[in-house]
Amino acid sequence: MVNDAQDRIKKIRDQIAQCAMQTGRSDKEIKLVGVSKTRTVEEMLEVIPWVDAVGENRVQEAGAKKEIWPTDVSVEWRLIGQLQSNKVRKALSLFDTLDSIDSLSLARTVERVASEMERSVPVLIEVNTSGEASKAGVAPGEFLELFEEVLNCPHLQLKGFMTIGPLTENETQVRKAFAQLREIRDKAESRAGRLFPVLSMGMSGDFKWAIKEGSTMVRIGTAIFGSR
Ligand SMILES: *Cc1c(COP(=O)(O)O)cnc(C)c1O
Repeated sequence: MVNDAQDRIKKIRDQIAQCAMQTGRSDKEIKLVGVSKTRTVEEMLEVIPWVDAVGENRVQEAGAKKEIWPTDVSVEWRLIGQLQSNKVRKALSLFDTLDSIDSLSLARTVERVASEMERSVPVLIEVNTSGEASKAGVAPGEFLELFEEVLNCPHLQLKGFMTIGPLTENETQVRKAFAQLREIRDKAESRAGRLFPVLSMGMSGDFKWAIKEGSTMVRIGTAIFGSR
């Protein structure tokens, strides 16, 4: 049987490698997260060998999938959608990383619950670089306060930052948003005196631009699984 998703991933990997090369990097520095929201476990299992992680944006959906997930298939589960405080405990039991920390109150809740669960959790801070009100993420003007808070949470391990590019096909505008996240990361590193290597940016429509702006993690749904 021909596995279409597998073919599509191979093409995406080639494009990732090409863009990485153009910026003097190796494709090994760039993780491919298969965004599996709305997809069945069966569809997911077809691609697991070729992705570095799966990304889900709803706690409940991920929970239902993990209930029927085969015990012999292991993959990293990343939460990439907005997290409500009342779902933090469930999220911590389901996900390996929380990529969408976007407010002080969420950071504090995750810290408290992770501490109760005696768990240390890798996180990303999500920044709204597009200025679009509908987009999740902390506003750049409020970033610093959230960043300092996360650094002070002993059960949160800050690995880097995430953003969703603006909804436009204008390359200049999209790349500007990605460049902004990279600059935020650079400032954060010099402020904290340590590295935050993960820049999660780029989706099906804009991952090539994201890589050219320094992305180390692309989140791809449609280009792997087809349209939702
Ligand atoms: C759905 C989603 C994606 C993937 O989008 P595609 O355009 O299907 O590749 C990436 N990141 C987040 C946060 C999403 O919600």
